[in-house]
Formats: sequence, structure tokens, C-alpha cells
Amino acid sequence: MSHALVVDDSRAMRAILGKQLKQLGYEVLEAEHGEQALERIASATERPVLALVDWNMPRMNGIEFIKAVRSRPELDPMRVLMVTTETELSQVRIALEAGANEYMMKPFTAEALLSKLGTMGLP
Ligand SMILES: [Mg+2]
Repeated sequence: MSHALVVDDSRAMRAILGKQLKQLGYEVLEAEHGEQALERIASATERPVLALVDWNMPRMNGIEFIKAVRSRPELDPMRVLMVTTETELSQVRIALEAGANEYMMKPFTAEALLSKLGTMGLP
């Protein structure tokens, strides 16, 4: 079973995203912010193939987390989807330049999530 990481400081949002990913067949790991997400990756038995990342979080925000991930060549294969309420085009660009593969705005539907995963080459 492929592992997916949900990084969001909202417990409710983690629950929603986690449920959708489980329905798609993923084993889900959760983290409340970027620092915890890096710890989860380090301690995971299997590297996540996918990370869904919120923008605004305490300690280490989504952009900082994505930059940290992209500074590690071994994490290159991990697809990163930014999931956020930040809707300005300039912010989409910042996320993609930081190394996100795709961008999805909250609120979103299960179909939109599935479509984004498909765009990133995931089942
Ligand atoms: Mg947040």
C-alpha cells in the first residue's frame, strides 16, 4: 500500500483529506506542521509517494516544508500537492517555484483531488 502524508494544522482538514486518501487506497500519515512532517518522513518504514501540504501552519509552513523536501534528492519522487485557501495567482507561482507539483484550492471535491493525483501521475 502506498503511503501518503497529510500536512495541515487543522485536525478537521487532516481528517477530510485522510479519509479521501484512504478511500483511494493509501496508507495515511499525518503531521500538524512541516517540522513534524519531516520527522514523519524520517521515521516512516516506507517513503511517502505523495504529500498534501497546507500553506499556513505554525513552526514550519508549507512553502518552507516543500523547499526542505526539494533540497533532498532522495525525496525527488515524492509528489507534492499544495492544498490551500491562498488563491492569488502569485501565490500559486510561489508554491510551484518552491517545488510543489500541483496546487489545489480549499474547499475542494473528492473528484478534484482525484483529478490532481492523476495529473501528478498517481493512481
Ligand atoms: Mg493551516
